[in-house]
Amino acid sequence: MRFDVLTIFPTFFDGFLAHGIVRRARERRQVDVAVHDLRDWTYDRHRIVDDRPYGGEDGMVLKPEPIFRAVEALTHHQPNPSIVLLTPQGRRFDQAAAYRLSQSSQVVLICGRYEGVDERVAQYLATEELSIGDYVLSGGEPAAMVVMDAVIRLRPDVLGSPTSAQHESFQTGRLDYPVYTRPARYRGHAVPAELLTGNHAEVELWRRRAALRKTLCHRPDLLADPTRLDDTDRRLLT
Ligand code: SAM
Repeated sequence: MRFDVLTIFPTFFDGFLAHGIVRRARERRQVDVAVHDLRDWTYDRHRIVDDRPYGGEDGMVLKPEPIFRAVEALTHHQPNPSIVLLTPQGRRFDQAAAYRLSQSSQVVLICGRYEGVDERVAQYLATEELSIGDYVLSGGEPAAMVVMDAVIRLRPDVLGSPTSAQHESFQTGRLDYPVYTRPARYRGHAVPAELLTGNHAEVELWRRRAALRKTLCHRPDLLADPTRLDDTDRRLLT
């Protein structure tokens, strides 16, 4: 799969691309990420990408022309690209959206700045608008990194073990179980005894109960639908 990121600050992504799972996935050619300077699609001497909003008000708005040109040039060979405008006004990005995008062969991420992006990009160019949460960032770049990171780890063979992603939070409809490592006792706080038994069934049961309790405590909304709980879940919760 391929990501094309449109931004006025391409170097923003240098650190992101140079580390961890994302770097490894690129090196193994499991994913291709190209970061593009939006100004490369301007034709004026000053490479202007923004202008004042119609109707007055402070701030600037990203102009439609460079964005339309860039997206059309980058996607003309793809039958069904996902063209994502990052905006706080979009639908909330979640694990289901990450999974859906991970099935796409090309995802274009448009990063806004200033007061936002001319609305015609949302209406006539983007295939969807995504928000990473109910807060306002200064630009779409951190949101683009969030989306890429979440999507890339869902691509086949990107994570070390094929089952790694399967038990993660949200993938299962609940939060992941808590994890511990050595030492078994730290500042008087012990690792739960069940995890030290070496008994696989006991460990699994502890993890299931701990995941349920954590979900109930932090995200009860995830368990609101009773059909999501089976008899073992109900027993573990009592
Ligand atoms: N005036 C806009 C509003 O209130 O909806 C906010 C513009 S924001 C300062 C500038 C850019 O940051 C947006 O165009 C968008 O690309 C990005 N951005 C800000 N918050 C975001 C969020 N929660 N999710 C995704 N992108 C966001």
